[in-house]
Amino acid sequence: MTSLEQERWSRVKGRLKAEVGDDIFSSWFARMDLEGVEKDTARLSVPTRFLKSWIQSHYSDRVLRCWQAEEHGVQRIELTVRTAAIKAPQAKPRVEEQPEPSREQKIEKVVGAEPRLSGAAALPVSAAHEASGGSPLDPRLTFDTFVVGRSNTLTHAAAKQVAAARRGDLVMFNPLYIHAGVGLGKTHLLQAITWAGNATGDRKVLYLTAERFMYGFVSALKNQNAIAYKEALRGIDVLVIDDLQFLTGKNMQAEFCHTLNALIDAGRQVVIAADRPPADLETLDDRVRSRLAGGLVVEMGPLGEELRFEILKNRVLAARGHHPGFEVPDTVVSYIAKSVTHNGRDLEGALNRLLALSKLSGQPMTMEVAEREVRDLIRPQEPKRVKIEDIQRVVARQYNVSRSDLLSSRRTANVVRPRQVAMYLAKTLTLRSLPEIGRRFGGRDHTTVLHAVRKIENLLGNDTALADEVEALKRQLQME
Ligand code: ADP
Ligand code: MG
Repeated sequence: MTSLEQERWSRVKGRLKAEVGDDIFSSWFARMDLEGVEKDTARLSVPTRFLKSWIQSHYSDRVLRCWQAEEHGVQRIELTVRTAAIKAPQAKPRVEEQPEPSREQKIEKVVGAEPRLSGAAALPVSAAHEASGGSPLDPRLTFDTFVVGRSNTLTHAAAKQVAAARRGDLVMFNPLYIHAGVGLGKTHLLQAITWAGNATGDRKVLYLTAERFMYGFVSALKNQNAIAYKEALRGIDVLVIDDLQFLTGKNMQAEFCHTLNALIDAGRQVVIAADRPPADLETLDDRVRSRLAGGLVVEMGPLGEELRFEILKNRVLAARGHHPGFEVPDTVVSYIAKSVTHNGRDLEGALNRLLALSKLSGQPMTMEVAEREVRDLIRPQEPKRVKIEDIQRVVARQYNVSRSDLLSSRRTANVVRPRQVAMYLAKTLTLRSLPEIGRRFGGRDHTTVLHAVRKIENLLGNDTALADEVEALKRQLQME
């Protein structure tokens, strides 16, 4: 190759860089070399087949135009794959395609893993997964331990379907996008897919948290092998990304977008979990969001009481495997299922405490012990919002008067007391101010309301019958 050709080539690259921007240039073209120009053909080479096909399908016109801007005679671009061997300056251009390195080789290169003797299938699934750069997998999070209930039936079915697919099967929903609040089983399902998929050895499933995905890119960029990293990702059959809401930064999102598009276009499965639906991932740009929403989007709701009960039961059984003396009566399990309402993590926390206590003290697990141990995990139910109309309706029914009686200016004893009770409840069960309560009770003055509230407060101390009535009313209002 002449120095004139070399010089021209750097100008072509300069043009290309200016057109596509630094990011894209370094992603796709940094390792593109000129092999030579013969007649009307510029022969370029890239290190892998993937890069070749990507550049051919996305950038060949661009590259040609940049050439023509420097040298009119060029009519064609020929792209070849060169070997990994270091090219001597005068080495003959290679025309044949070299076999692409296997996925394992590529990934190993990226993460700098020790060379392995045999294929990934020979290693335990989790070791192989981590060696591939995946996030650690928890051996307990499998389909076997996942309890199916009303809130997760559809999501579970979709996850199963994805996990059961074989290489070459038509991809049914892509991406599969799972969203749910904290502790509702997203990570559990994603890891279950990963375990199940990798156990067959037929497909390569890679589980990455969004953070790990970003970390991978950053360190690959530092080590100047971002392209290899991308190719490794794109060599995966199923890419599973957890907690996508944590993906931040323009570059990362662009990389994620490229990866997503490349995988989906190549018919590979992508599975994503996040704490909100695609439309609410505000930091992602519109195209990514719509691509995410274009597959199957499924939501998992809060774990119902039955589901919580089942999860706990299973956990107790599993724990007994390691701690044979660990007995938790059903009454205790159902108490915890009822009272620890929040999410799977709190259930786990409650159970771990009971387990620790049982191991340390050897005490049998009674209701009393359980109540004491998990007290701080019991969150008060969200107080129900009570409306003033409901208060008036319930009070009127209780005292057998009409709602309009309560709002009227009648001052007979059978109306005055219920009216005062209703105002008292309005003050204690709602956030309404005294003047507003007054207005809602037939346009009364706030001092009238205040008087009623004080009156009932005083009576409650002495009049147990009234106190019971008021308690009953409160319960009714909060349950309705
Ligand atoms: P998320 O990723 O949605 O925040 P996780 O998957 O980490 O939630 O779940 C939190 C805990 O609850 C884990 O211990 C998980 O095993 C458990 N869990 C949640 N849903 C289920 C379920 N349906 N069956 C069994 N365990 C569950
Ligand atoms: Mg999670």
